[in-house]
Amino acid sequence: MCSKSGLALGSLGFAAGLKVAVSSGSRWGLAQIYFLMLMTNLDILAEGAVALGVELSDLQLGQFQTYLDGLTEWNRRKNLTSPGALADAERVHFLDSLSLVPVLRREAPNGRRLVDVGSGAGFPGLALKIALPELDVVLVEATGKKAEFLTWMKNSLALGEVEVLAERAELVARREGYREAFDVATARAIGSLKLVLELTLPFCKIGGVLIAQRGGDAEEEAALAAKASSTLGGGEPRVEPAFASLAADAETRGSIAVVRKLSETSDRFPRRDGIPAKRPLT
Ligand code: SAH
Repeated sequence: MCSKSGLALGSLGFAAGLKVAVSSGSRWGLAQIYFLMLMTNLDILAEGAVALGVELSDLQLGQFQTYLDGLTEWNRRKNLTSPGALADAERVHFLDSLSLVPVLRREAPNGRRLVDVGSGAGFPGLALKIALPELDVVLVEATGKKAEFLTWMKNSLALGEVEVLAERAELVARREGYREAFDVATARAIGSLKLVLELTLPFCKIGGVLIAQRGGDAEEEAALAAKASSTLGGGEPRVEPAFASLAADAETRGSIAVVRKLSETSDRFPRRDGIPAKRPLT
């Protein structure tokens, strides 16, 4: 059903080619556009995943299709994601989530427990669970309708070991069984790196790691967050280019920040509801 590899070969390259083609208007460019139009959305996903070192089975591709159908259906009634992002969900949501996989494998090769803070419609947490079913995933999402979607979606996907908590991270991170209990934390598009650190590092075990997509000037942001990270028990934030930046929304999220948890987080953190966003750590 997937990987009509002859057709889909190098879809990321062709996606890049599309940009060139549009700007140059060349004949070869138009041929590329035509070629791209022949590809199905699942081909784009499958080939993009291969580029990230993730071989998706037909079962997993079917789950991504079910996910997309569910998201499309719910989005008619509840505003879970923008129409633009939905139209390009394979890249903007799925492959962008999977761009964390190579980093996760390298930084937490034996990591099993993952928390995704501010999961929204499940990115990256639920997408990662489909790609890496061995993960034990907790999705923390404060907005009721989004958490409701996540619960419905994970049930429809018949995934084991996904827990959805319709709560604020500030509260969950103080609870036994969740505090200092995860090998990996993720968070996409919830705010500044300082905010991400305060809402995720308390969840990480010592030796665990935060892996987060970042946009803008990620290097500068990482330098500015170094002190906050140390205050929270984290190491110096490192930034690397997202390998899948071609597949994703490259202009807004081209980097991945990696922060190792080095020591226990003081019980002063995270501060109470809303404060980490309102008054970022210095
Ligand atoms: N990660 C998703 C959603 C981003 S929007 C994506 O990238 O597509 C940010 C989400 O974080 C919102 O759904 C919001 O409800 C949630 N959120 C923000 N602050 C939170 C907090 N303190 N605890 C839990 N969820 C939070």
